[in-house]
Amino acid sequence: MVSIGFFGGVDEIGGNKILLEDGDTRVWLDFGQSFDMGTEYYINWLQPRRGNGLRDFFEFGLLPKISGLYSEDVLGETDLGYCDPCFDGVFVTHAHADHVNHLKFVEKKVPVFLGKGTRFFMEAMEKTSAFADYGTHDYQGFRTGDVLNVGSLEAHPVHVDHSIPAAYGYIIHTSENTIVYTGDMRVHGTRGEMTKEFLQLAREAEPDVMICEGTRMVRSGKRKHLSEPEVASGVREVCEQASKDRKHVIFTQPSRDMDRWRTFYEAAVESGRVLVIHPKTAYLLERLLEDEHLSLPNPLTDDWVRVYYRRKRSRTYAEKDYYVWERKYLDRLVTAEEVKRFPTRYLVNLDFYNFTELIDIRPEPGSHFIYSMSEPFTDEDLEEEVLHNWLDHFGLKYHQLHASGHMSRADLREALEIVNPDKVFPVHTEGAERFKDIYGFVVPPVKGETYQI
Ligand SMILES: [Zn+2]
Ligand SMILES: [Zn+2]
Repeated sequence: MVSIGFFGGVDEIGGNKILLEDGDTRVWLDFGQSFDMGTEYYINWLQPRRGNGLRDFFEFGLLPKISGLYSEDVLGETDLGYCDPCFDGVFVTHAHADHVNHLKFVEKKVPVFLGKGTRFFMEAMEKTSAFADYGTHDYQGFRTGDVLNVGSLEAHPVHVDHSIPAAYGYIIHTSENTIVYTGDMRVHGTRGEMTKEFLQLAREAEPDVMICEGTRMVRSGKRKHLSEPEVASGVREVCEQASKDRKHVIFTQPSRDMDRWRTFYEAAVESGRVLVIHPKTAYLLERLLEDEHLSLPNPLTDDWVRVYYRRKRSRTYAEKDYYVWERKYLDRLVTAEEVKRFPTRYLVNLDFYNFTELIDIRPEPGSHFIYSMSEPFTDEDLEEEVLHNWLDHFGLKYHQLHASGHMSRADLREALEIVNPDKVFPVHTEGAERFKDIYGFVVPPVKGETYQI
């Protein structure tokens, strides 16, 4: 008997936790964290206690209470006793938080299957972020073309294009049928042909079931969606105007969207500005140099890249102020003072949580801020209000330029037509019901329910 249980990614964008069972074989498809995880109970600094395991999660039903899944140390003070693991693996699609963040609770003996590049992004996060921790696991890295034989399953991971490199979809043959799981994907990105290849292989497998992401099934109406080249030309236009007016250009973007880094780098070079990045980004770029497919600049040698450091304890950019991994790029330092003095010389990345640097940079009034991320998810987003307060305070002009990591509604319809599954379970969406408008055989899953297939 084959069944699929949906424990996350239902009526929400992200947080995928999908259980595939084939007789005695049980694997999870992703084990991510919901974006709005428990926001009825946890907000800002009121968060589950670190080191308190799952107790603070189970209290509000934020993770499923399932035996044989979690490690002994995180079950400590919960009423779910530890027992030997009874899962054969987790199939991870990509390194975004809503797909991997809760791996840290999963029993160490359960193997985690993931793209080699995905593991790389997770390692980089663990190295450069105090909050990233995916736990110790038996990580088994694969590349497209590899076949995973796990219990009675034969799984084929296939690359897809998404807003982070090393994203995969899965084609899984069970003892009775074939299941396709998309993860997150798009066809309008710079490597859309990878997604098309996945869809074609999925079609050839004649799947019974497709578990399909539907992020944009609801929001497409009220959001503007650009392609990556459109983002690039928008950025160039802003830089051109700013150079004429002798103004600064500052931007924020998703930290691991390497297509977007390339877009900003190329725009910087074309407009004669040096791209200024955070040490974390320098670390990521340097580590990614080995991957020639990504054609990214070397932060240690490229004349068009410099690194911005916040002043820390000594206030003098002393080496000892910084983490060991950060120090390597100090030779590439550009200071707030330099950015301030030469408005047209730089294209500066500055994340929202580093906005206090604006007090030192003090951009020329009438300078530009490019928000190169998706719009906030809620209408009354407090961060957005604060962001605009800062922009107003410093007289910065706001531009939003972003290309989505997800398929449009029209692309989804086409994808379903190509793959042609007998049945579709929409996940990673608030618009599961709307799939019925674009495809004939749709089952919007209910959270916590298991479906025999
Ligand atoms: Zn996602
Ligand atoms: Zn994603």
